[in-house]
Amino acid sequence: QPAPVQTTSEAPASAALLERASVVIPGGVNSPVRAFRAVGGTPRFMASGSGPWLTDADGKRYVDLICSWGPMILGHAHPDVLAAVTEAAARGFSFGTPSENEVRLAEEIVARVEPVEQVRLVNSGTEATMSAIRLARGFTGRDVVVKFAGCYHGHVDALLASAGSGIATFALPDSAGVPRSSAGETIVLPYNDLPALEAAFAERGHEIAAVITEAAAGNMGVVPPTPEFTDGLRRVTAEHGALLVSDEVMTGFRCSAAGYYGLETAADAGDRRRTTGAPDLFTFGKVMGGGFPTAAFGGRADVMALLAPQGPVYQAGTLSGNPVASAAGLATLQGCTPEVYARLDVVSHAIADAVASELSAASVPHRIQWAGSMFSVFFREGAVSGYDDAKDQDTAAFRRFFHAMLGQGVHLPPSAFESWFVSAAHDDAAVDHVIAALPAAARAAAA
Ligand code: PLP
Repeated sequence: QPAPVQTTSEAPASAALLERASVVIPGGVNSPVRAFRAVGGTPRFMASGSGPWLTDADGKRYVDLICSWGPMILGHAHPDVLAAVTEAAARGFSFGTPSENEVRLAEEIVARVEPVEQVRLVNSGTEATMSAIRLARGFTGRDVVVKFAGCYHGHVDALLASAGSGIATFALPDSAGVPRSSAGETIVLPYNDLPALEAAFAERGHEIAAVITEAAAGNMGVVPPTPEFTDGLRRVTAEHGALLVSDEVMTGFRCSAAGYYGLETAADAGDRRRTTGAPDLFTFGKVMGGGFPTAAFGGRADVMALLAPQGPVYQAGTLSGNPVASAAGLATLQGCTPEVYARLDVVSHAIADAVASELSAASVPHRIQWAGSMFSVFFREGAVSGYDDAKDQDTAAFRRFFHAMLGQGVHLPPSAFESWFVSAAHDDAAVDHVIAALPAAARAAAA
């Protein structure tokens, strides 16, 4: 564990909250990455957010480049979303019966993502991928799932395995408490490696229920799929009767109005354009919940028809389709206009260009990669096509860079392996604030 770059004296109220939290919450946080373990120092406890800004418990302001890890695409406390939430909440928080808001949210998703004929709403991205895998197993009558190293699909037992490489290796669980039997039904392959996929299917294709992949990887830093890989995934799964599950929890409604799939099928996508068919199932979360705990999985109607109460695959949730969360998600999606996507492009490119030029000026090796307006900065030279490349970077340089930015009021994701997220509320003042902080941070990274 490296020495913290910033001391607790710089954030006394957060330090005090962390101490209190650590008594009653393991590690003081409710999701591990928030604890700053990868960068050291005191995680900032936020008191409020408005537009592109966060204010911590000490009253210090930050330009937010996490955006709640993706959902806050319109910025914090957007007036339209706030109005929708307030209106919905005033009519009751949860009924345990069907209600109209969930229908409207489902209709909005189906309207936006052409291959998705039906969706079921759930409460988190983890539930979405877990349920999609169960459905794929129920549909095919097979057990084995293929995932790719470096791709994160939530903390589902069978999908936590990401260690191990090579063809058809039985993965070992990455977490204590995951049964070997569960991880044993998972084959982990290198991302963007079509020959490895073909070899795995040649050997065990008849056992494989599904391949799950991030539509564009964002959880090892941003690593877009090559067009050959995207096409190969569809071709190989179809040849062997396995389902293809595209995890758009992170990319969905962020990379375009129809997620990364929308980018791939856009007429102007050039050689990125998908030449084979669509995935069978998709998972969504983050943006479609507008900052509330709601997510979804969906796809082909004949596959979705297997879900209870219509079919034999059980899946349920006390709060699924919650009217307040659905209102937040719907208002957020309705706010995702072409102008919003245009602004995301402008903001992310302004920031990334400035990062690249300051790191170059300070002679810090770096590589910036993109999926739509999602980008990440790898502290290394050369393209990153999979997890081994992503791990081969100077995380110590990132730590110094991170803390120099934090000290100047810019909150980056506290890990070198994460996408940076912007919102359409990042106005010129916020972007200028980020850009002004970069020279000192680049020099710190070089130190
Ligand atoms: N899938 C992807 C691609 C994700 O990025 C995440 C979360 O970061 C998940 C699934 C899990 O979503 P959640 O954290 O809502 O359970």
